[in-house]
Amino acid sequence: MTGLPRWSRGRVLLLGDAAHCLTPVSGQGAGVALATAEMLGMALQECASLPKALALHEARLRPVIGRLQACSREMASVFIPQSPFAFRLRNLVMRRMPKKWLGRYLSGTMRSEMELLEKQA
Ligand SMILES: Cc1cc2nc3c(=O)[nH]c(=O)nc-3n(C[C@H](O)[C@H](O)[C@H](O)COP(=O)(O)OP(=O)(O)OC[C@H]3O[C@@H](n4cnc5c(N)ncnc54)[C@H](O)[C@@H]3O)c2cc1C
Repeated sequence: MTGLPRWSRGRVLLLGDAAHCLTPVSGQGAGVALATAEMLGMALQECASLPKALALHEARLRPVIGRLQACSREMASVFIPQSPFAFRLRNLVMRRMPKKWLGRYLSGTMRSEMELLEKQA
């Protein structure tokens, strides 16, 4: 799966899922859509012209969004196993897995959203 080569053309900008959809299993799409909308507002305040603001917005977001998309695609294969064997194996591992591993994963996803927000500062 490839991402869009660019999120804007002229005065038109794609935001949220339209620009950089994460898989639903990431559980982050809504938060990221809101955070990036706010970041767009910041870029518009910072730049004298619209093209500059849109370029700054995309340059700030691309690296973080790329990491989030890669991570969510990896997780999708765990959530949606490709075979009955993978389905059973996934369920077995989830049942036996120490809860702190899950906690570590969830806190990691929160950290990545915070990383996005820190870029606004
Ligand atoms: C099953 C599932 C579970 C999810 N779980 C989570 C979760 O737990 N946590 C989380 O953060 N995110 C979750 N998401 C992702 C989250 O819903 C999206 O990332 C988020 O809604 C994206 O917001 P958006 O504003 O970019 O797009 P959307 O919310 O899709 O909004 C786009 C809007 O545009 C409207 N529209 C479309 N075409 C037109 C048109 N031609 N004219 C006018 N209006 C139009 C649509 O009707 C819609 O209202 C989940 C998604 C799915 C599908």
